[in-house]
Amino acid sequence: MKVLVAIKRVVDYNVKVRPKADGSDVELNNVKMSLNPFCEIAVEEAVRLKEAGTASEIIAVSIGPKVVQEQLRTALALGADRAIMVETDSEPQPLGVAKLLKAIVDKESPDLIILGKQSIDGDNNQTGQMLAALAGIGQGTFASNIEVADSTLNVTREVDGGLQTVTLTLPAVVTTDLRLNEPRYASLPNIMKAKKKPLDIFTPDDLAVNLTNTVSMIKVEPPAERQAGIKVASVDELVEKLKNEAKVI
Ligand code: AMP
Repeated sequence: MKVLVAIKRVVDYNVKVRPKADGSDVELNNVKMSLNPFCEIAVEEAVRLKEAGTASEIIAVSIGPKVVQEQLRTALALGADRAIMVETDSEPQPLGVAKLLKAIVDKESPDLIILGKQSIDGDNNQTGQMLAALAGIGQGTFASNIEVADSTLNVTREVDGGLQTVTLTLPAVVTTDLRLNEPRYASLPNIMKAKKKPLDIFTPDDLAVNLTNTVSMIKVEPPAERQAGIKVASVDELVEKLKNEAKVI
């Protein structure tokens, strides 16, 4: 089974993001960038499938500027066999990413495509769903467990009401939720080995994909500062404040 894993370079989750002075975007100068946490889970799941003898090859793919090679090398150090970078300096939106991934799917014909459920920078939660629609294949989103059985895949999904299990015919798209697994750290020898693994580079033009964005960002601003709380001495005082100050009861 060939597994394609889509990974995104994002601001590290420990960074407290701030807008640029002109509010046009998030400030990315001198900010630590990392592999999107849900994509780490996607890579880990693919590696576990390979370790279990279910997957035969793992291909990591990322779309973005040249520096996304850093995250592709991380995926290779974690266990991917080879990488594909689609190089673009424009920041494609989910539909553009999904179209590029569809072009890679057409080239590689993977049996399983694993994505994160969302990227923590844009919080879009759209790419996997769009890719499945464009490719005309099934999708199991927000996966907390997957089990491969011959040419089908059982995916346990984390939905509002609890857990839902769906059976998908392969090829299929899966997007990862937090509880699917706990990703490993890359070992130093594997980081060294990753430098020699193959990495192919394409441009959107090579893949005949037009990346016209259809959504424009108006402004980025920080959320309103939270007011400091106060301590009340009694329930009566609490009720009085909720009634007369906060006016919520
Ligand atoms: P999103 O729809 O932006 O929340 O992203 C969901 C998932 O789509 C991510 O976790 C990645 O697996 C994949 N994805 C989004 N953007 C990219 C990108 N530029 N390159 C590769 N994969 C991406």
